[in-house]
Amino acid sequence: MITINGKAAFGGIVIGKIKEFSKEKNVVRRTKITDAKAEYTRFENARETAIEQLAGLYEKAVKEVGETNAAIFEVHQMMLEDDDYLDSVKNMIETQMVNAEFAVATTGDNFASIFSEMDDEYMKERAADVKDISERVIRILSGVEDSDGLSSDEEDAFIVVADDLAPSETIQLDRSKVLAFVTRKGSTNSHTAILARTMNIPALVCTPLDKDVDGRIAVVDGNSGKIILDPEEETIVSYEKLLKEERERKELLLRLKGQKTVTKSGKEIKLYANIGGVKDVAAVLQNDAAGIGLFRSEFLYLQSDTYPTENEQFNAYKTVAEMMAGKKVIIRTLDIGADKQIDYFNLDKEENPALGYRAVRICLDRPEIFKTQLRALYRASAYGNIAIMIPMIASLWEVRKAKELAETVKEELKAEGIAYGEVEFGIMIETPAAVMLADELAKEVDFFSIGTNDLTQYTLAIDRQNEKLDVFYDAHHPAVLRMIQMVIDSAHRAGIWAGICGELGADTTMTETFVQMGIDELSVSPAMVLPVRNKILGVE
Ligand code: PEP
Ligand code: MG
Repeated sequence: MITINGKAAFGGIVIGKIKEFSKEKNVVRRTKITDAKAEYTRFENARETAIEQLAGLYEKAVKEVGETNAAIFEVHQMMLEDDDYLDSVKNMIETQMVNAEFAVATTGDNFASIFSEMDDEYMKERAADVKDISERVIRILSGVEDSDGLSSDEEDAFIVVADDLAPSETIQLDRSKVLAFVTRKGSTNSHTAILARTMNIPALVCTPLDKDVDGRIAVVDGNSGKIILDPEEETIVSYEKLLKEERERKELLLRLKGQKTVTKSGKEIKLYANIGGVKDVAAVLQNDAAGIGLFRSEFLYLQSDTYPTENEQFNAYKTVAEMMAGKKVIIRTLDIGADKQIDYFNLDKEENPALGYRAVRICLDRPEIFKTQLRALYRASAYGNIAIMIPMIASLWEVRKAKELAETVKEELKAEGIAYGEVEFGIMIETPAAVMLADELAKEVDFFSIGTNDLTQYTLAIDRQNEKLDVFYDAHHPAVLRMIQMVIDSAHRAGIWAGICGELGADTTMTETFVQMGIDELSVSPAMVLPVRNKILGVE
């Protein structure tokens, strides 16, 4: 039994036989031609056939993975109409008097190396695409059929292993024959990974597998990003148990998808999901959350080597708002400091970082950073239903100051003629001070979202990072529960709503208690949406 770690592109567990994806690589030979005009016409015909095939693939992909994900095949068609690409092929045929296959292969390689040298991640990804379209044209020129790489007489489904898979190869695979994808190369942001996610197929990329894996039994664990070759009986039994649980969850999903989250007595609870970035939205939609209750925007900063620009942030927020198509998207403003340190912020070392320079404290102290984020948020609000939420509030003046800065930003945008939408403005309740002031804070904002992770830490005076204190860190502590009740009551007295976005919100042993307390919203990890909905449906 050998365990090999890769990078998870899409979660899920499968047990099955490996099939090495074999694509007939065309060996392209350089041959001398005598009639350049006739050779270019041969290329032109092959190019037209390739565009027709890609249009067919686009139609297939629209049906299977939706318009947005299918768009890559439109990009491929456009690449085959690119003047630089066509000029290069033509020039090579005419000046070097070489065959079209060779001219296309060389052009494809040249363009791919230019793309892969670029700094821009999006352009880097195009290297694989230009190779893909070039191979398609070469196959047509050489009269090789477009096949799915899995032999057609096989009845079973396989774990498909390949060095890399181009998007066109991925979409062409017969889905009923694929249990999982595992590639030796590839990135989690590639279109192939995106397609795997939308096709709902567990996928690993960047997995250093040897060449001799064809026909071997394996477990692919897309949740933890590993493949286990030749698993022992015990391992298979434990994974079968996990598979059974996963299947039950999927059945639950099918049964509960599309249903409203209402208690037996008819109270509707807003059941939202927590995300860390754009890539998590697919899971939110898949699990049928009614909105996003916590977008931890600091991940945009953590993934970057320098301050993300207004436009970079705007694009991320806009994408999420558009993908959620009018459903609520609550974006929490920057919450760094404490356990989330970022080098380029140059934060001083602190004796007690959890009690230190973090979240809204940094934002108010360095308003230029905060205003950049607020501008991006308000600009994105023109594209969907965005709400802003401020973390780590302890005092009234902090809320007032944050609102003042938000007003300044709105005025600036108005003066610049930049559109923005209606934006709910809320705060997180995660300090005991905010709980005690909840009555007054409620008059200032549109909603409260209780951050039980920090509220437990600050109420019980327990560092949430310290594993030694795990037995003391009790989110069910009566002090915490009383605080939650106080916050809900204060919110309702002021006519605003209150939710929970900390981990406790997903604790199904507490769901009934929260409903009885009068909670209006729960925001949980995407995978917990349906289990929590299931619980709420059974509550009076
Ligand atoms: C919380 O504190 O409960 C919370 C949701 O925020 P974070 O876990 O990101 O601090
Ligand atoms: Mg918190």
